[in-house]
Amino acid sequence: MAQEVAGDEIQLSGILKPGTDPHVYEPVPADSRVLEEADLILYNGYNLEPGLIKLMNASGGKAQKLAVGEAVKSLQLDKGKGEVVPDPHVWGSAESAIAMTNAIRDALIKESPEDREKFTQKASQLTNELKQLHSWINQQIQTIPAPRRKLVTTHDAFHYYWRAYGIAIAGTLIGISTEEQPSAQTVQRLV
Ligand SMILES: [Zn+2]
Repeated sequence: MAQEVAGDEIQLSGILKPGTDPHVYEPVPADSRVLEEADLILYNGYNLEPGLIKLMNASGGKAQKLAVGEAVKSLQLDKGKGEVVPDPHVWGSAESAIAMTNAIRDALIKESPEDREKFTQKASQLTNELKQLHSWINQQIQTIPAPRRKLVTTHDAFHYYWRAYGIAIAGTLIGISTEEQPSAQTVQRLV
């Protein structure tokens, strides 16, 4: 999203590579350097990436920091035993992605006010694409008979998606973090 909104005005360094699991990611020394040299640090927030958030808070540098995901009002998840936490997987609906795009745009403008017009224009372009995506997803969901609109996932990361697009979560193998292992009982119940 940052790349889409900023184009070649930024030099983007993504710490988490595609396929890396943010919940259990253990930072490496090179990550501290990236964080210290950055002008702007964009992270998800709601404790999605505890290892990186800890490192970011401990590292020096004068970067502006933005928890992009926290631009979305969180769903609260009951972890049991009275513990309620915000669900960090906010990006699962196009509407959330639009809120995140706008938050990134504002942070970029703060960083580089002279590029305001460019960032604003590119953010609205991305917003239009996300609105089209939203309609497309809804159309696809309509092709599934209503009683069969159920989702089974490994990791409990789709609450924003099912809320936005009217899918029921039939079950998940593990909870909102990937640290857990599914129990044989859970697997059997889900089957
Ligand atoms: Zn997750």
